Amino acid sequence: MKKRVLIGIAWPYANNNLHVGHLAALLPGDVLARYSRLKGYETVMVSGSDMHGTPITERARKEGVSPADIAGTYHAEFVDNFEKLAFTYDLYTNTDTDYHKKTVQDFLRTIDKNGYLYETTEPQDYCEDCGKFLSDREIEGKCPVCGKVTRGDQCEFCMASFDADKMTDKICRICKKPTSTRTNKHLMFRLSAFQDALTAFAAENGEKWRWNANNETKKYLDQGLPDRAVTRDLDWGVEVPLPGYDTKRVYVWFEAVLGYLTACKKVCEDKGISFEEFMKKDSGLSAYYVHGKDNIPFHTVIFPALQLAIDPEMQLPTHIVSSEYVNMNDEKMSKSKGNLISVHDLAANYPVDAVRFYTMLYNPEKRDVNFSIPEMIQTYNKFLCGGFGNFVNRNLSFLVKKYGGEVPAGKVDAEVLSHVTSLYETIGAKMENGELRSATEDMVDFIQYANKYYDEVKPWVAAKEDAARFGDITATCLFMIANMANLFAPVIPVGTEALRKILPATDATWGVVTLPETFTLGEVSILYTKIDEK
Ligand SMILES: [Zn+2]
Ligand SMILES: [Zn+2]
Repeated sequence: MKKRVLIGIAWPYANNNLHVGHLAALLPGDVLARYSRLKGYETVMVSGSDMHGTPITERARKEGVSPADIAGTYHAEFVDNFEKLAFTYDLYTNTDTDYHKKTVQDFLRTIDKNGYLYETTEPQDYCEDCGKFLSDREIEGKCPVCGKVTRGDQCEFCMASFDADKMTDKICRICKKPTSTRTNKHLMFRLSAFQDALTAFAAENGEKWRWNANNETKKYLDQGLPDRAVTRDLDWGVEVPLPGYDTKRVYVWFEAVLGYLTACKKVCEDKGISFEEFMKKDSGLSAYYVHGKDNIPFHTVIFPALQLAIDPEMQLPTHIVSSEYVNMNDEKMSKSKGNLISVHDLAANYPVDAVRFYTMLYNPEKRDVNFSIPEMIQTYNKFLCGGFGNFVNRNLSFLVKKYGGEVPAGKVDAEVLSHVTSLYETIGAKMENGELRSATEDMVDFIQYANKYYDEVKPWVAAKEDAARFGDITATCLFMIANMANLFAPVIPVGTEALRKILPATDATWGVVTLPETFTLGEVSILYTKIDEK
């Protein structure tokens, strides 16, 4: 049986544009998936847009449009962003599809049947005028700490967080009328039942995760796991498939994170493979979850708890690829500072490989990083144009100019052969570990190694003096180029794909490829054009 790999990339919230911070957190997933497919693993890479929740409904109300309009607009933009940056999702869907809703409802029924849901009734703030229960965000009142009038979940003035029932003089933020109190019922998920199982899971696996995931998870578990409400009073979201919950919807934390399973199930069905088999634990499934550090407990605690509640035979996350943050020109990125660079602008103005290469070479794997467009351009000019592109171009245009593109016979240098062979192992091991920045640094080393070889052996001299030696040098250089087309493909898919049109028999695979004895080059063109740094 082929090794199986699931890559679950975080589901962006469809309420705003994607920016470079998202890109740095999400792109490692695509690099992993491209590697995994080259390696011949049965790979499923999924994600989708998170369409529900109160930030979207509130914004829709303010703008006088429907929540579906807001979420739908951003979903379409995300799809376009990912397509332009050459993400290879097996499925990029969203939480507003019938398939997702129906499958979440099935999971919810299963969790209920397995005894992990119960009903609570509690007094809750109600607006007689609007005829609905109010969420904390929909309430305004006096802060129990500083006494100023603020929103119901956190004070805008003293930053204290509290429950809305601690406030006084409460009014509905929608109609500004005083609130009343009514008893309301909700479904609760017994997260507390998984405290021991998840503590053991984290203790056993945490060392293999990124350090931030290990740390954050321990902290989260140490606080103790409270049960969580599964339902809320909203009309935008997944309907609750149990009687008496007509006016409520499934809470976003519950249904969006289950998107990994609903999307994976859909891909399995489309491929004609069994989802239960694919996800079965102890049968060699590597399950990578790729996201930013603010999302860690969702992937190491909440999601695994839901998996255990659905089917204890399901493989829990094996790899947590959780990125640190991206700053802009040494400042924290934020909407208010106006220093966000959107993925849309990047994709519209710069070559795909430039954006991907820079994002991976300086990925916030171990610490926060700084993103700057001038640095991205310099990196691209230096390593992709001046290093990789130049190595390819020096070799190929010389062959075109002097030999009409006919490649002479020759033997690949033994040392180079063994170096390239070892690169598949070292870079491959880093990929599987989620050390993608380090894998990208190895690409840079290989580019420098190849150029150094070229400068030392001086093929332009050999061409005049020793035809046999020129043949060997050429065979060695083209061998390196053919293997760069594989080794670099996960990070820079555009340039490597162009190489496949120039060199013959360069199958996309994760293993040494050799070229025919002699052959004619395909049409040679420049791989990368320099960007003016001014
Ligand atoms: Zn306050
Ligand atoms: Zn009201």
